[in-house]
Amino acid sequence: MSKTSLGQQPGIRCFRSEKNGLNVIFCDVPGPLCSAAVVVLTEPLNDYGLPHTLEHLVFCGSKTTPLRGFLDTFATRCLSEGTNAWTSEDHTAYTIETVGHDAMRGFFFFFFLKKK
Ligand SMILES: [Zn+2]
Repeated sequence: MSKTSLGQQPGIRCFRSEKNGLNVIFCDVPGPLCSAAVVVLTEPLNDYGLPHTLEHLVFCGSKTTPLRGFLDTFATRCLSEGTNAWTSEDHTAYTIETVGHDAMRGFFFFFFLKKK
C-alpha cells in the first residue's frame, strides 16, 4: 500500500493498495474502541434489490466459510458485539467495532488477508 495525498490531515492516514485499489483510511481517536467500515460500491442496474440481497447473503456464509452467522461469531471472539451493514443507493457498508486494535487486526486478518 502507498500513502495518498489525503493523509495530510493530523491523526488521519490514508493508504491505497496498488494491487486492487482498496482504500484504507485510519483516523487515530483516543480511547479503547476501534471502529471499521468496509464500503463497497454496489450501484444497482435495476430495481430488483440485488445489492441489498447480497448484503444479507454475506452474513449467511460462503464456500470457504459455509457457516451462517459465522461473521458475528468470529467478531465476538475479537471482542466485538457483532457486525452490522446497510445498503444505500450506490454502496453497501459493513461495520464492526472492537475493543483494542489487536482485536480489529485479528478480524481483518482472517477475512481479508488469509491465504487459501
Ligand atoms: Zn437489510
